[in-house]
Amino acid sequence: MQDAVLRWYDEHARDLPWRRTRDPYAVLVSEFMLQQTQVARVAPRFEAWLERWPDVHALAAATPADVLREWVGLGYNRRALRLHACAEVVAREGWPADAAGLRALPGVGPYTAAAVAAFAFGEVVAAVDVNQIRVVTRVCGLDDAPPREVTARAHALVPADRPAAWNHALMDLGATICRARTADCAACPVARHCASAGRVRFAPRATPGNGARPRFEDTDRYVRGRVIAALARGDALPSDVGAERLERALNGLARDGLVVRDGDDVRLP
Ligand code: SF4
Repeated sequence: MQDAVLRWYDEHARDLPWRRTRDPYAVLVSEFMLQQTQVARVAPRFEAWLERWPDVHALAAATPADVLREWVGLGYNRRALRLHACAEVVAREGWPADAAGLRALPGVGPYTAAAVAAFAFGEVVAAVDVNQIRVVTRVCGLDDAPPREVTARAHALVPADRPAAWNHALMDLGATICRARTADCAACPVARHCASAGRVRFAPRATPGNGARPRFEDTDRYVRGRVIAALARGDALPSDVGAERLERALNGLARDGLVVRDGDDVRLP
């Protein structure tokens, strides 16, 4: 099964800019950006970021306000401040040696730590994201297993000689063939080894009243993003979202350290 996945990956790998490097800083930047933003939107922003701050020392020397300005449009702005905080720690103390050490960096969870360890350091760990969980669950027939068991199986499957390629391969397989709502088992390189081939169980779709998401424009996140973008451009705060929503967004942003409030004055940190 491992050989089949890696052979498929060697032929079909998506050529993404962060896959051409083993620089832990570049990998960390890409992983922070990719946490909640799509690949196509991240790619040009990743390259611009590295041009502006090519290493961890350059980023550590930047101001939080500059970091937030550069981040505008990627969303979930707290990621930018956490990435900056990581750069400050690493610039001061050096890179941790492994995934366990990376976990101690600000805002770095198990997935991001494993991704940097596998892609930059070649550590034999699984970067267990939703795609990898889905593929491993289906291939190993673990639909009814607890998450801990799926994660343990994911780690056990990583081949010792190609941990980076393996993790990228499972992400690609989950993103293009073994998807949440469709599974193209006929085109799948591991169908022969898969416990679920041709009989995938799909989770029910969310419907209104069944956990459906509100429109993005109706969320606080939308207002928060508008506020940060306005401050980054030096524009007035958005006035068309309603005073109450604006106030709530400003309070949340101030609480998260994304803006500084001084009376009526609001600015980036
Ligand atoms: S055979 Fe089907 S269910 Fe199994 S990994 Fe491939 S696409 Fe997913």
